[in-house]
Amino acid sequence: MSVNKTIIVSNRLPLQISTNQNEIVVSPSIGGLATGMKSVHSEGNGVWVGWSGITDEDLNDNLKKKVKQKIEEEKCRAVELTEDDINDYYLGFSNRTLWPLFHYFMEYTDFDNLHWEAYKRVNEKFAEVVLDTIEEGDTVWVHDYQLLLLPKLIKDKRPDVTVGFFLHIPFPSNEIFRTFPWREDILTGMLGSDLIGFHTYDYERHFLSSIKRILRLDVNFNEISYYDRIIKVDSFPMGIDYEKFSQAALNHNNPKAEKSELQQRLDKHLSADKDQKFILSIDRMDYTKGIPNRLRAFEYFLNKYPEYKEKVRLVMLAVPSRSDVPQYKRLKRETDELVGRINGEFSTVSWTPVWYFYRSLPFENLIDLYTSSAIALITPVRDGMNLVAKEYVATRTNQDGVLILSEMAGAAKEMNEAILINPNSFDDFASAIRRALTMPLEEQKQRMQILQKRLKRYDVEKWASEFLKSLDATNHMQEVVVSKKMTLEDENEIVKQFNDAEKRLILLDYDGTLVGFKDNPQDAKPDLELFKLLDTFESQKNTDLCLISGRDKDTFKNWFGNKPYNLITDHGVWKRENKNWLPLEVVKTDWMVNIKPILETFVDRTPGTFIETKEFSLAWHYRTADPELAQIRTMELNTVLTSLVANNELSILKGNKVIEIKSSNVNKGRAANQLFMKKDYDFILIMGDDWTDEYMFEAAPDSAHTIKIGYTKTKAKYQIKDSSRVRELLLKFT
Ligand code: UDP
Repeated sequence: MSVNKTIIVSNRLPLQISTNQNEIVVSPSIGGLATGMKSVHSEGNGVWVGWSGITDEDLNDNLKKKVKQKIEEEKCRAVELTEDDINDYYLGFSNRTLWPLFHYFMEYTDFDNLHWEAYKRVNEKFAEVVLDTIEEGDTVWVHDYQLLLLPKLIKDKRPDVTVGFFLHIPFPSNEIFRTFPWREDILTGMLGSDLIGFHTYDYERHFLSSIKRILRLDVNFNEISYYDRIIKVDSFPMGIDYEKFSQAALNHNNPKAEKSELQQRLDKHLSADKDQKFILSIDRMDYTKGIPNRLRAFEYFLNKYPEYKEKVRLVMLAVPSRSDVPQYKRLKRETDELVGRINGEFSTVSWTPVWYFYRSLPFENLIDLYTSSAIALITPVRDGMNLVAKEYVATRTNQDGVLILSEMAGAAKEMNEAILINPNSFDDFASAIRRALTMPLEEQKQRMQILQKRLKRYDVEKWASEFLKSLDATNHMQEVVVSKKMTLEDENEIVKQFNDAEKRLILLDYDGTLVGFKDNPQDAKPDLELFKLLDTFESQKNTDLCLISGRDKDTFKNWFGNKPYNLITDHGVWKRENKNWLPLEVVKTDWMVNIKPILETFVDRTPGTFIETKEFSLAWHYRTADPELAQIRTMELNTVLTSLVANNELSILKGNKVIEIKSSNVNKGRAANQLFMKKDYDFILIMGDDWTDEYMFEAAPDSAHTIKIGYTKTKAKYQIKDSSRVRELLLKFT
């Protein structure tokens, strides 16, 4: 028997592999994600799926086998990628499309079809390995923007498996996201998950806004209704390995500890002038990090407060990154030039204002920098989280030091005790630096203590465990949603009863049941396949077929004029039997002249909405309106109508993106009841998708088979997914 396991999926495996002639050396990599996942990965049969960092072309068959074996020894499974894959999916689509767009750099964003094709292809390669690794009861946790399509690829094949997704970069405002040519694919790709996590609430609400506006799905607080599933969206701010950084800093501060060359150099400068302070910045050389702007702002500071010349030094570590992408090349050049200019302008015999390192440093040296700097100046123009800011805080074991942090970093949301600045304002920069330089030690400590307490508690392991706990809880949610889901056995039983019966009544709603929804209701016409299905049904012996709809008589006359089926329209006002139309109810319509102008004012103020005037009712449709505006307007409309409807014996029906006003003595339940009374039916099947169909379900005799399309709350006995499932089911009866 297999033990349930968690499968972690990320673009890169947490391993460094080097090949030396025929020897392979595998060493673990020490990034934040690897640390956070350590216990998840090592527990039970945990597996990590990802790319090894070596393309297919770089390995001969013999080496390939060895690498595979070594990787598997580390509880990992490799997705094999070619050089083209990496160029087009990773360097191309991930880094030149998704990365800039999601960080609001629209002008840097390439929309290249070839790259998109590669992105799909590689996501499928990942899916193949994951699907091959999955066993019943497993949980999959997919990471980051390189794999946005993967959750759906997994869920489609394995609906039984719980899938989580975490995005490590920002999710942009819908105003940015909607420019993306493949926006629907990306969103539906992500919706394969049961839980979708972001660093901050802002990213979460941006995502939900796109879900509502682009896919037009219903969102209830942080839950998305998506066919038979509910998808939960939440924020989980990623932390750091707090112990590792604070412990390293403690060891480092031990007077007996051996000092690195870098530390000796830093110490030399600090001891030469007791008042001198280092301002530290550490980032990957990326345009999102705001490096040139920070340099210009530092120059502005030195000009505005010249008394700090020779007293402060900007120690700037920029780690080389994606250096073959043109924008990164330009950024590097710009940074080099700015550092040169500022140093040229201000340097004295004993002082250089900017110390600039373009390289990556080993962990020990990072600790040297963190612990030696009185101030950290972390000012990205846009950053999903920013771990450097958190690491700086964790190393301040004496609780001195000041963090200046950009509001545009996700970390700013949980680090209010830092000095938060708008990185586009030089004055903000200058006053923040001055404030940090003059901040009393007591205040520094107060701030640091609060920051440290939070980071220590909500560290990266806690982050991972909170996410998984929440993911696990989604299982329970799905059970509630699908409690009435129709099974194959249910279907077979109903078909058997149908076959055995002698007097059958089949009562079918039209919109949302036999056909899907269209933006314009007149476009939701019956198609040939539907006619064929209904004709076959009708021609069976002992079978009364009746379509029952809120549509008006004229529309149904138009569509079904030549067909023999029985029809009930206008929610039960008109009935057509044996080709004759008869009124089922006597209905007043004099109220319409008063209500219509009110609806018109709502149409005027709510773009994307319109009025459908039926013989006995008025319907205000808002399917293509902005979902949030529509929500406000429906509440307003309800309030306005409430007093009017009472006096006129009207009722307000809330349908699927429509509000309908009609006479209270008409509803589908009353109409259906008249049919039930007519004959002594021994088989009744009723299907409907909408709130208005609940009247039929309620009126139906106990023995009737009532089926609701969709998975919202219902009085029906069974639920099925959508109109294509309805057709599949009906075919079984013919
Ligand atoms: N870092 C590193 N080597 C260096 C400089 C930095 O490993 O020479 C690490 C740093 O400790 C931090 C990470 O790189 O954990 C940067 O993460 P962050 O979230 O700040 O930015 P990202 O690069 O992910 O955009």
